[in-house]
Amino acid sequence: MTTAIFTHQDFLAHDTGPGHPERPERIAVVWEVLDRDEFRDLPRFEAPEAEVEQLRWVHDPAYVDAVLNAVPDSGHARLDADTVLSPTSRSAILRAAGAVCAAVDAVLDGTAKNAFCAVRPCGHHAEPARAMGFCVFNNVAVGAEHARKRRGLTRVAVVDYDVHHGNGTQAMFWDDADLFFASTHQSPLYPGTGSMSETGVADNIVNAPLPPHSGTVEFRQAMERRILPALEEFQPELILISAGFDAHARDPLASLNFTGPDFEWATRKLVEAADRLCGGRVVTVLEGGYDMVGLAEGCAAHLQALTRA
Ligand SMILES: [Zn+2]
Repeated sequence: MTTAIFTHQDFLAHDTGPGHPERPERIAVVWEVLDRDEFRDLPRFEAPEAEVEQLRWVHDPAYVDAVLNAVPDSGHARLDADTVLSPTSRSAILRAAGAVCAAVDAVLDGTAKNAFCAVRPCGHHAEPARAMGFCVFNNVAVGAEHARKRRGLTRVAVVDYDVHHGNGTQAMFWDDADLFFASTHQSPLYPGTGSMSETGVADNIVNAPLPPHSGTVEFRQAMERRILPALEEFQPELILISAGFDAHARDPLASLNFTGPDFEWATRKLVEAADRLCGGRVVTVLEGGYDMVGLAEGCAAHLQALTRA
């Protein structure tokens, strides 16, 4: 058994318009990493479209309908200041969430040891009734509910090391003691949430904000002192990772100083936790990463940790 990859050609067609940082080139860069000798033999699967019902597990039904109706016939439609739909976006936004559900199935069925979803747009800022920060549907949260509603799991954890706080995932998990969300992120930074005092109904939310210019030492301390012990205590049956690579030192949207080895280390620590807690069941989902060299370096390091698990 090895790491399975879930992706789709239509992620390249989601057109956010000229000058947008969340651009098609991002997924092409990830595919280039996947084509390297060390990863080219990993089994790849086409991401299916999520069903509307699956989206409605975490989003208001009216929001899901409004988004699908907002996909334009030509040009661009803006869901918020920086979240854009093009005529080719429908397939991408449905498949980004569908990828996580299919990856959860593969890992729970035992056909893959773990899985990486190479998707765009990202999802962790999407709230129950609001698109935000390039995110339309909350891909990782849909995957978590798929594991519970269709596969009989009870306790699911999401760990998010994207440089931005995953406000959407936090909002969806806040009231449910059987869902766990932990995040390292730069603070202050968009979207402004994620303080240590935000802890959910049952201490099921763990935020570890990092000041600008934090790097290896601060990140690893936050993981080892706060996030990994809380994850252990939560006893998940499945661990999902919101894998953003915009905390990389080269990233233009933020000011943290992570390097490739930090992403390898964090992924390995989470895989080791999954080995102890839940039979190694890990599904990871691409979130941000806006410097093409940093994105490639982070992705390669992440995949090394997954494939060597
Ligand atoms: Zn981000």
